[in-house]
Amino acid sequence: MAATTSTTGSPARRVAVYPGSFDPVTCGHLDIIRRAAKQYDHLIVAVLNNTSKKPLFSVDERKQLLADVTQDLPNVSIDSFRDLLVNFLKSKEAHVIVRGIRSVTDFEYELQMASTNHQLDGDIETIFMMTNPKYSYLSSSIVKEIAMFHGNVQDLVPPEVQSALIAKYSEA
Ligand code: ADP
Repeated sequence: MAATTSTTGSPARRVAVYPGSFDPVTCGHLDIIRRAAKQYDHLIVAVLNNTSKKPLFSVDERKQLLADVTQDLPNVSIDSFRDLLVNFLKSKEAHVIVRGIRSVTDFEYELQMASTNHQLDGDIETIFMMTNPKYSYLSSSIVKEIAMFHGNVQDLVPPEVQSALIAKYSEA
């Protein structure tokens, strides 16, 4: 198969960015990461460093958990950003944003975000991946709520995340 060539004559690398809070990464996120990693040469999972939100896990903890659960995926790397997402993409020479859709509610918000990002940079495309039906109800918030009351999150998050949640909620 012929490689895609950019206008500069060098082969174009297909780099995509999957941004999110990942507080913490769930099996739903991991399913999207695995599927997206098959579609692009390089997938950057980018943790949003949002100073206005009070997350359970620090940015470094979230990045470490993501690195742990994606270590078998050689074309996936973990990063973080606090700038505008389009600027982060530019700094990585990426043109694709990957997002997951679980519901109509997700769709409405995602449509607004995708349109805004396209308005800010017309070269950027947002690609949506439908949730695996197994995880359509799953969110980081739900996982935290269950873990806070010492419920079983074994089927909802990877084992590393389960241990981190147990440790976090036994700190208090
Ligand atoms: P959350 O909504 O769980 O706090 P994030 O802000 O980390 O998650 O979400 C990052 C992206 O992952 C968003 O596009 C979101 O729709 C998607 N996502 C989150 N959970 C799932 C899931 N269970 N299945 C598919 N996509 C998901």
